Amino acid sequence: MAELLFHGACEEVTGSMHMLRVRNKWVALDCGLFQGRRADSEAKNRQWPMNPNEISAVVLSHAHIDHTGRLPLLARDGFDGPIHCTPATRDLSAVMLPDSAHIQQEDAQYVNNRRARKGLDSIEPLYDEDDAIAAVRLMRSVSYDAWFDVAPGLSARFHEAGHMLGSAGVELAIEDNGARRTLYFSGDVGRPRTPILRDPAPFPSASIVICEATYGARVNEPVADAREAFVKIVKATIDRGGKVIIPAFSVGRTQTIMYYLHEAISANLLPHLPVFVDSPLALNATEVFRTHPECFDQETRKLQQHAGDPFGLSCCTYIREVEESKRLHQFKGPCVIISASGMCEAGRIRHHIKNNVQDARNTLLFVGYQAVNTLGRRLVDGVKAITLFHEEYAVRCQVLQIHGFSGHADQTDLLRSLIPLRGTAERIFLVHAEPEQSTALTAKLNEAGVHHAALARRGERCEI
Ligand SMILES: [Zn+2]
Repeated sequence: MAELLFHGACEEVTGSMHMLRVRNKWVALDCGLFQGRRADSEAKNRQWPMNPNEISAVVLSHAHIDHTGRLPLLARDGFDGPIHCTPATRDLSAVMLPDSAHIQQEDAQYVNNRRARKGLDSIEPLYDEDDAIAAVRLMRSVSYDAWFDVAPGLSARFHEAGHMLGSAGVELAIEDNGARRTLYFSGDVGRPRTPILRDPAPFPSASIVICEATYGARVNEPVADAREAFVKIVKATIDRGGKVIIPAFSVGRTQTIMYYLHEAISANLLPHLPVFVDSPLALNATEVFRTHPECFDQETRKLQQHAGDPFGLSCCTYIREVEESKRLHQFKGPCVIISASGMCEAGRIRHHIKNNVQDARNTLLFVGYQAVNTLGRRLVDGVKAITLFHEEYAVRCQVLQIHGFSGHADQTDLLRSLIPLRGTAERIFLVHAEPEQSTALTAKLNEAGVHHAALARRGERCEI
């Protein structure tokens, strides 16, 4: 019998990692970083479900750090097997994992400065850039829909997940001790009709399903409404002579915003206004997007044919150097500035907020989820003043948020994917969800006659 062992993204939304044993070989599905409160995540990030040299292979669903971010540590701790993923996931990881290494190093530096003041020993960063490169070297890319061997008795193929460039659900065919089983690991499931990406493929039939349930309890605003709201907000701001400041993750959300701007300018819904993307990671990630048109949907390919590079508006400037970023603070007149980080906890966006938050003509526009205890969350909650770089600034600009850009399937989408498996799935394990989200989804699934769905727990083992 094959066996599953749940390790990460159990009752929480980070640290995705599920172990599968077939013919006594262990394979990891994802190897993501735990994110959140430092003390909790630090301990979890250093702990493995087994010795890394006992893991034969890794299969990745997509390049988000909460699904890949511990690969450098896995490689450093002794893993040297293949890491299977789609070509775009490999290329995105090649820019995202070294970036994650820099964040780990900066984070350790910050902690060490505080520890030194207290006379404590310094700590080591989780990993460094060399470890990140070592992990990328183990990656083997495989196109969508093609079967490939993972380990003896285990083969797999990737299905479009529509969640980020290169994202995939993983169908696994298992042959162990004369028994044949199929397992489907959803990875993160996207939403239909999101820009750039193809829609998520229907789930293949499988006897065991591991499915994400991030928004198992929530119904999202339609994508088309979000697009309309976005164009309206940009137009209103530039009409009153203001700047639109958009904090956005560099990979995925930034390219979506660029796409919407390109589309609206091409359709004359917006004038040719100056647009600045101020993030080196966004620039690197956009280059990867450009080299993977095979991941684009038809609308994006059409826009590309008629209006050129969907991320390369003639009025858009990508900024890499710090000096150039500083010069942008002197820019006068209406414009759009997109910068990271998405929750305003670090990065160049904090300088743009500092320079623009006190002008009532400007708009600070949030296009992603804002976690509690972040500057972004305090701003969307309506604080009247913020402290940045040890100084206080009054919030006079408009602060707005659009929820409909989420890259995750909502309850309706998840039900649409899971209900057709009513007759075939014997067990459905819900992962990547806070308990209230998965409980709500389980209840809805039960109503629809889909039983045997339950939240997976950390350390839970199950013979399949
Ligand atoms: Zn994701």
